[in-house]
Amino acid sequence: MTETKINILIVDDEEQFLNSIKRRLEVREFNVITVNRGEKALEAARNNPIDVALVDLKMPGINGEETLKALKEEHEWMEVVILTGHGSVESAIECTKSGAYEYLQKPCKLDELLESLKNAYQKRVMNKKDIDEKKMKEILALSLGESSLRILRRLKEIDKDG
Ligand SMILES: [Mg+2]
Repeated sequence: MTETKINILIVDDEEQFLNSIKRRLEVREFNVITVNRGEKALEAARNNPIDVALVDLKMPGINGEETLKALKEEHEWMEVVILTGHGSVESAIECTKSGAYEYLQKPCKLDELLESLKNAYQKRVMNKKDIDEKKMKEILALSLGESSLRILRRLKEIDKDG
């Protein structure tokens, strides 16, 4: 994955949809990883620097909502867009509560999807900035009273997070 592109993880149990959306996004400013199960999405997100995940709701194994929750829990600045063929007001509310950036319904126009993914990426950039600022403030506070070893540890954490 290169630095300049947006790294997208697409999770959907429909292989045909995965392939067609992957092709469409890859000719634009996206690096795309596709998986067909929630479990695989969690694994892929642990092993790759994902900015935004596009997640289907109805899948065998862990469903989209559980996938969303797990991704948000494990990756504090990642954004998740839901794209479902089985949307409902209830699930839209639930997903929003669980931290979904947006809730889209299939069929979704490509332009609309691209805009959502790009906006979600902007949010992800801000998330990272906010979290780094918070950590820097903590480090400053530490530097006034704590050992340099702890400060170094915190700095290392920021560095590791990229
Ligand atoms: Mg599905």
